[in-house]
Formats: sequence, structure tokens, C-alpha cells
Amino acid sequence: MRQKKIHYIYNKEMECMDFDERKKLQGERLRKTVALEYANVPMYRQRMDAAGVKPEDIQSVEDIVKLPFMEKTDLRDEFPYGLLAADKHDIVRIQGSSGTTGKPIVSGYTKEDVDIWTEMVARAITAAGGGPDDIVQVAYGYGLFTGGLGAHQGATKVGAMVVPMSSGNTQRQIMMLKEMGVTMLCCTPSYATYLAETIREMGIQPEELKIKSGCFGAEPWTEEMRQHLESLLDFDALDIYGLTEIAGPGVAFECLEKQGMHINEDHVIAEIIDPVTGEQLPDGTPGELVFTTITKTGMPMIRYRTHDICTLQHGTCGCGRTTVKMSRITGRTDDMLVIRGVNVFPSQIEAVLLGIEEASVHYMLVVDRVNSQDKLTVQVELNENVDMNDTENMARLSDLIKTRIKQVLLISARVELLPPKSIPRSEGKAKRITDNRNTGF
Ligand code: ADP
Ligand code: ZN
Repeated sequence: MRQKKIHYIYNKEMECMDFDERKKLQGERLRKTVALEYANVPMYRQRMDAAGVKPEDIQSVEDIVKLPFMEKTDLRDEFPYGLLAADKHDIVRIQGSSGTTGKPIVSGYTKEDVDIWTEMVARAITAAGGGPDDIVQVAYGYGLFTGGLGAHQGATKVGAMVVPMSSGNTQRQIMMLKEMGVTMLCCTPSYATYLAETIREMGIQPEELKIKSGCFGAEPWTEEMRQHLESLLDFDALDIYGLTEIAGPGVAFECLEKQGMHINEDHVIAEIIDPVTGEQLPDGTPGELVFTTITKTGMPMIRYRTHDICTLQHGTCGCGRTTVKMSRITGRTDDMLVIRGVNVFPSQIEAVLLGIEEASVHYMLVVDRVNSQDKLTVQVELNENVDMNDTENMARLSDLIKTRIKQVLLISARVELLPPKSIPRSEGKAKRITDNRNTGF
């Protein structure tokens, strides 16, 4: 059941702060963070020395460009404790990346870091209309992955009743959603879609449920996917973004305006850079998102390159928040497929498929190298009501998808139409790419 568009704000002072005042606060916090990092983290001290930058050179937010970047490889090289700025004694939590890309990495959190992260998620849940009267089902995985515990802590903080399901066991998830009268759902957007589709297949109507909103993140999704989800369950599907290295979910979150995600700027400084030159890019220009934590003490991150591609937009939002907003993530530089020299992101294909009535939202991109040529195959699962024996219609559909892909990507792809439920479902982050080019076979 969709809610009225009322903007609730968890921490007005911080979220609606005057721009100049916030910049000043960020400058002060950045100065402290750099001093702490320089004093306690040998790897970063060496990097600053090599770049000829001293902590005193950092006085304001603008000075951030003088600082060297940090990379995911730094976390691997310094695994597990090398990047801690705090005494190990003060670390109360370890979280790790889900390992979508390569080896896992871990981050250490002090008690204060956990509190900050918790508040960030509390802000997200509040923006989605959540409070003490809500029942929040957490269907993100619990464990090293930040999704489950992050959503759990945030929902607890706003005083909601938490149903900590973790991921998986779809039938039981749906039973609990219904029987407990759950009002909010937190999980990955792909799992939310799977849940929503299963709910409808079971003949359960949206009005039999009490779900009013959901905070969906941990993987890229599209505006078309939001429309699809919202039409299935008649609720507000909101985006939430985060990464282990910075805090976990809640680094940025959408409000009911649904026009981008508010970044918690009292805790992080966000930049968009050109991934090749490292130069900062202006608002509205897509580039790589870079974060600097300015309140973390366990494992602060300075100019951490996320490899996520998006745009930033400054200004006051319709909800009253003044924090900078990030667009949806359109891809990850390391998730990006380069096919015959063209950059291809799964989200582009997803957007095409969502515009085609007969196609479901389940797809897989398969890349092969045949005679030194890259071949892209897009496997598309069709909806239940499509008659796959109607060969004429199948040929038309396949041509239509091919044409649309060509219009968007400017490269041709082979299209394979598959029966419903033939692509494996994910309970966490969806796997959308099979790249057979580098397997050594
Ligand atoms: P990894 O996926 O690298 O194993 P994490 O579990 O920490 O590590 O996930 C962080 C990454 O997940 C982000 O860098 C981003 O690529 C992706 N992510 C998280 N939230 C979103 C979101 N709302 N939209 C798109 N991508 C997201
Ligand atoms: Zn807003």
C-alpha cells in the first residue's frame, strides 16, 4: 500500500545543514582524519610522503585534491589489519565485502564507527517512512556482508520491529511478510523482484500485504526495475547505497522524491573523478565515485576509489535535505564489459528489456571470443504468458530486442529467448555476466 509523500528526516541538523556551514564542518573533520591517518597508517603515510603532501597542507575541503587515492588493492595488500588507524583493542566489528569482484576484503569498525553507520541507515529508513510503528523484514544476508546487520541496526535504531530473516527461503519470507504484517522490506532489488513476482504468482494481491516501502541496494538497478517492482506490490521502492570499506548500506539513500540518493555528507566527502586522469568532474558528468570518510576512526578511507560510475548533483531537494545526491550507479568500472572496444554495462541491457512487454527482468550476458572476435549473447527469459511455439512471434521478438540493443549499445548481440525460470535466481547480489574470454580454455 503506497504511503502519502511525507518527508520525515532523522537528523535535521545534519541533513538540512546550510551549505557553507557543512563545508566548514567537512574541512575540520577532514583535517582530523588526515592527521590520524598520517600518524597511524604507515602505508598511507608513505603514500603522502611520496606525493609530497603533509597533514598541514590539508586545511579545507578543496585541499582534498592534493591527497593520494586509495584502492581496493590496498585493502588486499594490507589485509587484515594493516589499514587500521585505531588500536585493535578498540575495534568491535569486522565486516567484509561479499566478494562480487575478486578476493574478499575486510574493514574494522570501532564502536563509534558502528554507531555512525547505524545512524546512516536510520536516516535511510526514516526517509522511506520508517519509524517505531513499522515492522521491517531484513532479507539481506547476515554475516560479513554489511547488508543484513546494517539494515538490522538502522531499523532497530528508529524503534521499528525487526524481522531478521536473512536471505533465502522465499516461501518462508513470503509467509512472514504476510502473517507478521510487515510494512517495510530490505533486500537486494533482484531478490525483491523475485519475492514480488512469487507473491503475485501465488495469487496474493498487494492489498493483502501491509508493505508500504522498501530499501533496496547492494547492486545496481534501474528506474524501469523500480516501476516494475512498484507495480507488483503497490509500494515505494527506494534505492540505498553503501560499501563495506566506507560503512555499509546507508552511505547514501533515496528519499520519497525518488530523484537520486542523498549522501551523508557529515560523515563522508564525495567526489566524481575521471577514472583515467583522476581529475574532479563537475555536477552531472558521469565518472567514478570517490569517498573520503571524515568521522571514522577504525579504518578511515581517504579518496577511496569505488569503481562505481554515477553523477553527483548539489542543491536543496524537495524533501528539504541539502546533502549532495548521487544518481543511480550505472555500472562499475570493473563490471564494465568491453566488447569490441565498446563499454557495456548490464544496466543498459536491463533498461532495454524492461521496455519489452514479453521479456522478464531476468537475463544473462554471455561473452565469448570466436575467431578473435568478441561475441555478445543476451539470454532473455520470457514471461509466463508468452507462447514459445509461435515461431513467427519469437523471431519478431528476438529481432526487436536485437534492434533495441543495437540502438543503445551500437553493437550487435545475439539474442536467445528462454522459457520462464531458466536463469538461476539469486538471493543476494544477482550475477548477470558470464565472460568466457579470460578463462584460459
Ligand atoms: P563487493 O560487491 O565489492 O563485494 P560490497 O558488498 O561492499 O562489496 O558492495 C559494495 C558495492 O556494491 C558498491 O561498490 C557498489 O558497486 C554496489 N552497490 C551497493 N549499493 C548499490 C546500489 N544501491 N546501487 C548500485 N550498486 C550498489
Ligand atoms: Zn530528498
